[in-house]
Amino acid sequence: MSKCKGCGAEVQWIKTPSGKAMPLDMQRQTIVTLEGQVVSGFTSHFATCPNDNNFRKGAN
Ligand SMILES: [Zn+2]
Repeated sequence: MSKCKGCGAEVQWIKTPSGKAMPLDMQRQTIVTLEGQVVSGFTSHFATCPNDNNFRKGAN
């Protein structure tokens, strides 16, 4: 596990199918798709980080 440089939250890094690294929140979420299927997964930390401008500005 590693910590977000922006907010210090614990995140887990995965690789997307396109080979990019992406940080995910540790907490598993249950969501329902538009087709009504219930699936579980994780939220991108890019979406929830309170200091996400650290990512967007391209700092490191
Ligand atoms: Zn963060």
